[in-house]
Parts: sequence; C-alpha cells; structure tokens
Amino acid sequence: MPELPEVETIRRELEKEIIGKKIKSIEILGTRSVRRHDNPKQLIAQLQGKKITQIRRIGKYLLFDLIGDDILVVHLGMSGQLLRAKGTKEPIPEHTHVIITLSQGGQLRFIDPRTFGEIFVTRPAEGNPRMIPAELLHLGFDPLANQISWMQFAAMLSQRNTQLKPLLMDQEFVAGIGNIYSDEILFAAGLRYDRKCNTLSSQEARRLHRSMIELLNEAVQLRGSSLADEAYKDIYGESGDFQGQHRVYDREGLPCPRCKRNIKRVKVSGRSTFFCEHCQL
Ligand SMILES: [Zn+2]
Repeated sequence: MPELPEVETIRRELEKEIIGKKIKSIEILGTRSVRRHDNPKQLIAQLQGKKITQIRRIGKYLLFDLIGDDILVVHLGMSGQLLRAKGTKEPIPEHTHVIITLSQGGQLRFIDPRTFGEIFVTRPAEGNPRMIPAELLHLGFDPLANQISWMQFAAMLSQRNTQLKPLLMDQEFVAGIGNIYSDEILFAAGLRYDRKCNTLSSQEARRLHRSMIELLNEAVQLRGSSLADEAYKDIYGESGDFQGQHRVYDREGLPCPRCKRNIKRVKVSGRSTFFCEHCQL
C-alpha cells in the first residue's frame, strides 16, 4: 500500500508534469472509484476545462488544486496507481477506472485492481486557513509537510495509552504512515511495536520523532518502496528503490543489521509486524 514516501514521489512528479495544464475531459470506467459522488456526470462537468494550479499532499492524499476553488482529491488505497500516458493512443491497462485527458496532450490514468482507492472533487472547508477540504480535516499532522517539534510530539505521545505501532498508523494522529514505515521507524528508534506511548522517556520520544522524519525523508529520496507484489509504481510506471534499504520489514528470520539475531514477525491487529527483540525495547 502506498504510504507517505510513495505518494510524495508521485506528487513531485505530477508537479513537474501537469501544473498549468487544463483538464480536457474525464472518462469514468469504474464508478466505485468515484463512490462519493452520486452523479459521476456532475463530477465530470465540474472538472472539465479546469486548469491545475498546484499539487499538494496531506498524508496519503493527493490534492490537485484547480482554478476557482475546486480540489480534485486522489487516494490510492491499497493498490492504486496514477500513470501518465504521453498520448491518448497508448493501450489502456487492465483495472483502469478513471482517465483524465489533459488539454496539452497526454493522460493521467487511475488504475486500481482492489478498488479501495478513490477520486473525488471538493472545496476547502469554510474558513480553513490551510485550504483543507472538510473530508480531510480528521487527518493528523503530516510529518514532512507540517513538522511539529519533538517536544510537541512527546506531549502528544504522553497522552496516549495505546501501543506505538497502532498509534503511528493512526491517520488521525499522524498522517501518511502505514505498515512498512511504522516498522522501519520503530526499528530506527530502537522501540518495540507494543511499547505503551505514555511510557516513553523524553529521550525516547525525541529519538522516535527524529527517526520518523529522517526515515521518511530517506525513503522519499529513493522514491519510495515497491514490494514483491509490485503494486506501487510512480507516474512513469517505475518502481521505487527504498525496499533495498528496509532493515526489518518483510525480513523474518534474516539477521538484524545491528545485532545479527533473527528478525521476528508477529501479527498486530491483523498486520504483519517485523522487529528485533534485542534492539527494540
Ligand atoms: Zn537486533
């Protein structure tokens, strides 16, 4: 599932490719991808002819700011891809649900075999200074786009009586982290997935804060992670390179890069969790 580094990679590529371009037409082949709209025709009418002025990201959501006040929101869900086609004649891949044709040539195609992803059009919430739509106001802070200090972070952790991994994956607490990066961040910080948030010393909270920002930045530098199932591709159809840097994720039984003991796997709320019993306390 694409997490913050993958979505940020796509955002940067879109910024290079489609800012200033106009939406010529939209074709909806799978209505489940636009399920927030009762009437897909209205969605099409709302987007046609609109110029794309900015591409933003909040957590795992991409926001295409359009001229006027409209915002086109894309969430890739489990298996979504946003692929750039140079011309309209390029063959359409299987599971293509939405095709956005741009006026200066080319298309963006939303492909999503598992259909957990979605696309919708909205506007900024009334009076919201950051121009965030109401549908996304529940999201917590974005660890790269709107950084908070480690002391603020420590104070937030101290108020939670939950385990660390589920909290890092809670989009209402911090937006953008999922199963892969939560394991990698916790390994980098030397903290176990099941540590209670309110038992962290200030030094541990500081380490977790630093690991979170550093690791996500490193993953963005390497354009995210593409796993064996190949679900994640950037807009050019290329895989990321960060999977080669994973230190615990999907490495059960392999030696820990720090202590050489075997990496363990457990299930936490149905999700595989990888960690080193010796290096993470
Ligand atoms: Zn270890």
